Amino acid sequence: MAFHLQFSEAPSGEEVSRSYQILRCDAEQKYKLAGFILSPRIYGVDVHYVGRSVPCMQHTGDCAWCKLGRPTRWVGYAPCADHNRQKLFIMEFTPGVMPSLVEYQKQFGSLRGAMVHLSRRHPRPNARLDINVLAAGAVLAPGDLPPMFDIEAALAKIFGLDAEGKDPTQPKIAKEPDAAAAKIADRITASLLGKKAASDAADGYKDLLETDYFDPSE
Ligand SMILES: [Zn+2]
Repeated sequence: MAFHLQFSEAPSGEEVSRSYQILRCDAEQKYKLAGFILSPRIYGVDVHYVGRSVPCMQHTGDCAWCKLGRPTRWVGYAPCADHNRQKLFIMEFTPGVMPSLVEYQKQFGSLRGAMVHLSRRHPRPNARLDINVLAAGAVLAPGDLPPMFDIEAALAKIFGLDAEGKDPTQPKIAKEPDAAAAKIADRITASLLGKKAASDAADGYKDLLETDYFDPSE
């Protein structure tokens, strides 16, 4: 019997919407990272580090990580192309390297085409990050660059945001504490009938606290 292949006319929607990787000046990049910035500006976001970086949702008026007292730090992103202008990726910037980029943007009106080199003074993830920014015209004409990709969509995909721009991995603590407290109060009232019951309620209280809070290690 002949061997048949199943042909399709076009790739699925999933394959059409490309993924882009965030590259940092880290061990994986041997503490050196270079690229051409494709956007006119940097896209900065406040993130919480909870085992991985997750966006702070305070702008929606409701960020569970803020409520849990997790600090935020600012991270800048820009869509970039590598030196061959073949590979597209998202470059990550820290606040310390921003003055050079802000200065460049002021001078040229746009960051598009800027050739950026990031390097660490020592091969350690926390070593000081240095930046070197070369003007676009010094290396190539801005028209020689690929168009910028949709970095907001790319970051939303990386952060796993839902269609409404919300992070579904945020711990669910927004409304529960009051409801939980009411439940606990009810239990304790009921348990006043006996010592044994009171100790059960105390265990229940502990369970409630533990189950209502998201474990960031997961
Ligand atoms: Zn937050």
